[in-house]
This record gives sequence, structure tokens and C-alpha cells, in this order.
Amino acid sequence: MALLNIIQVPDEILYKTSKPVERFDGRLWQLLDDMRQTLKKSGGAGLAAVQVGYLMRMCLVWLEKDSYLELINPEILGAKREKKGAEGCLSIPDITVRVKRFQELRVRAQDRNGQWFEMDLKGLPAICTQHEIDHMNGILITDHEEGR
Ligand code: ZN
Repeated sequence: MALLNIIQVPDEILYKTSKPVERFDGRLWQLLDDMRQTLKKSGGAGLAAVQVGYLMRMCLVWLEKDSYLELINPEILGAKREKKGAEGCLSIPDITVRVKRFQELRVRAQDRNGQWFEMDLKGLPAICTQHEIDHMNGILITDHEEGR
């Protein structure tokens, strides 16, 4: 495993739209493992592939302790309880922005073997998943700022 460099603003890749993941092979697993190690080291709650330089629709979301959820080609199926909260981003150091997010989410995604699954998320993992899907669409927390 290797630590990856987390790309920061204003690198233009962060504003690009990621593409669906189509190959579920050893190279993908290596990247996911490296992303996990990188996220763990950073202490962040989530990491999208674009933040380490890959325009691929996938991310890791911290669940608890050493447990991280891998979401590949994620889609939001349902959302409840929208609320504003302070949020940071590993790609934008020293900034927090108040962002409106759903506190409960039902998501559909593929795992690292390409198997589709559905699950319910609540609280931080739910908020984080929305943040990471924004990354896949080239959207940053600063785009959510009041009046924009
Ligand atoms: Zn972020």
C-alpha cells in the first residue's frame, strides 16, 4: 500500500466530473487500498477518487474505528431530514462551510467486485456520502456557500 497525495484547490481536476467505474480488477483494488490508507492517515471522514487524481466515480466513507465503506458508482435512492451543518474538506485546508445535507440516506452502489448493493446511512456517513458524490460531480463545499 502507498500513501497518495491529496490534491487541493485550486487544482482544476477538482472541478471536473468523474466517470463511471467499469473495470473491477486488481488495479482498482490497489487504488482503493491506497485511498483507505491515505484517508486513515488524514483523519478525514471521506475521500473521493478525484481527490487523489483519478476521475472515477468512487469514494471511501468512514463508518467507525477502522471500518470504511467503499462506494463505487454510488446513487442516492432516497433522502430525509435536511439540515445545515459545518463541513470541511481535505482538498480545502482550514475552511469550514455550513452546508445543507440530508441526515438520512438510502444509497445504491457497487462494491469492489462490481456487486450492486443498497444500504441506509445516518448521520456523518450520510453527510459524507453526499459530500463525496458532490466531488464526483466537480462540486466543492465552497459552491454551497450562502448566496451562491
Ligand atoms: Zn471534500
